[in-house]
Amino acid sequence: MVGARPNMPKAAPVIRALSARGVRQQVVNTGQHYHDAMSAAMMSAVGMPTPDIDLAVGSGSHALQTAAILSAIEPVLVQHRPALVIVYGDVNSTLAAALAAVKLHIPVAHVEAGLRSHDTTMPEEINRRLVDHMCNLLLVTSPDAWPNLRAEGLADERVVEVGNPMIDSVVRAQQVGDFAARRTALGLTGDFALATIHRPSNVDDPDAAAAMLAVLRDTAMRLPVVLPLHPRSQRALTTARELPGVRVVEPLAYSDFLAALEGARLVLTDSGGVQEESSYLGVPCVTVRTTTERPVTITHGTNRLATAQSAVGEVDVILGSAPPVAANIALWDGHAGERIADAITHWLSTAPSRGDGMEARDG
Ligand code: UDP
Repeated sequence: MVGARPNMPKAAPVIRALSARGVRQQVVNTGQHYHDAMSAAMMSAVGMPTPDIDLAVGSGSHALQTAAILSAIEPVLVQHRPALVIVYGDVNSTLAAALAAVKLHIPVAHVEAGLRSHDTTMPEEINRRLVDHMCNLLLVTSPDAWPNLRAEGLADERVVEVGNPMIDSVVRAQQVGDFAARRTALGLTGDFALATIHRPSNVDDPDAAAAMLAVLRDTAMRLPVVLPLHPRSQRALTTARELPGVRVVEPLAYSDFLAALEGARLVLTDSGGVQEESSYLGVPCVTVRTTTERPVTITHGTNRLATAQSAVGEVDVILGSAPPVAANIALWDGHAGERIADAITHWLSTAPSRGDGMEARDG
């Protein structure tokens, strides 16, 4: 089950590895993101098969979107009666698919379980917590997840540490895409900063958006800034186009984005996935948020948190230091998809003996 841009690089390696093990799958796209660069083109860039089922729910408020996915997915689950539903990440599609499945007594596995920012003003944090409590199999990307899950009473027996499938997609993109040539084609030479900003905390409130524009303006006084503008930031950050030194572009194709990231002197972001990708690639990352659900990118990677007020100071620290080395985080090695597929096939082979709800029932 996928639905939004960040789901695709996590799902593609798992789908591939399950297919290689002969597991029959139905890939469902809820259509939560429908901008081509963030949906169809993203799927093809990460090597995902065309989804078997497209629910095309589109955008809406959190309640409307979640409700639309719930209603659309239920008949699909009733018709196909899968032995397991696999959900990814922390978007509304993740929550709705897990909820629809669990109400039909269909087991659920969560890829990227156990991440916590402990900030319930983030919609993703609410989704993460609720989803983990509905799941039979919790597939975690780093050791940080264990204490988070234990603190919520979720038993270790449900948890398998598998590493980060997002990194599998970075490794694959590095192997198939000529990043240097991509950067040349994009006109990205010399030192530049890459910026991706779309979280509600940075763009929904006009004061927060004004503070973000000041960060971009002041960073661009130090080095050119490339800003691929997420659709949800169009209104708030569109005047960034007028800032000297800021180049606003459409959301970049996945391989182009990674090529830009690999060549950047630093990245300014509020994205979850970009904190991980930049750590893997050894690119200094300033995350303009008060919390992160991915603390391993700070303790073992290249990430640091900043407010809009402290971000430019962090940029100066980075520009005054030697570039960091790429992080070497355990199990972020390009093989997480295979470990996830092994955990899932093992779970499927032992589920009947545990009585783990293999029979789907009408509600
Ligand atoms: N990404 C992309 N093009 C862009 C910006 C980001 O392909 O212009 C990719 C990026 O490499 C990462 C994913 O989108 O894999 C992150 O998605 P997003 O920031 O929307 O979600 P989050 O990670 O914050 O949930």
